[in-house]
Amino acid sequence: MPRDIQRTTTGGAQQRPLRPLGAVSDMSLPRMGWICVCMYDAAPDRRPDDDDGWHDGPSDDALPLCEWCGHQHIRYVHQLHHPDVPDVLEVGCVCVGRLTGEPVETVKEREKGVRNRSARRETFSQNNNWTPTADKKGIRLRHMSHIYVLKPTRTGSWSGSCMLPDETWIRPSEWSWPRDLETAKLALFDAVHPARIAV
Ligand SMILES: [Zn+2]
Repeated sequence: MPRDIQRTTTGGAQQRPLRPLGAVSDMSLPRMGWICVCMYDAAPDRRPDDDDGWHDGPSDDALPLCEWCGHQHIRYVHQLHHPDVPDVLEVGCVCVGRLTGEPVETVKEREKGVRNRSARRETFSQNNNWTPTADKKGIRLRHMSHIYVLKPTRTGSWSGSCMLPDETWIRPSEWSWPRDLETAKLALFDAVHPARIAV
């Protein structure tokens, strides 16, 4: 019978969701055999070096809690899948090691993928070297082997495109683009570099 980690604990009228208590308190959940399927940064607008994801602390209260131990605030979230559990667990790197059996060094090395993405997003947001496009209708930025282009639309928003290092172009659909230019810049970055990194 498939287990459902979203279910509530037993206790009649006092039922509370299991998750905030930490799934580790649910003895029916498997203790091993999990695999990491995805990672993402829970605070993409923070500076990448604000925390290293390994420590609790008052400044981390805005971050989600590790769903396994229930007490570690995590910035870099690892989604774990288990064949006997229908939902994913979102945990920090310490609990990834416990549940997947991987050495901590392996988990930290993999986590660099999402950390690097956040660092790249930070430098992108601070890069003010946008210049007019050749047709003067928009602006462009060369950043880390990518060329980002933003052009105003007839409806007052911005449309974006990006040339990748292999010289192919990504042209996200126009309808979702914001009117605010600074927001549009980051929206373009996020369209080119998805926040959720599959493992
Ligand atoms: Zn944990």
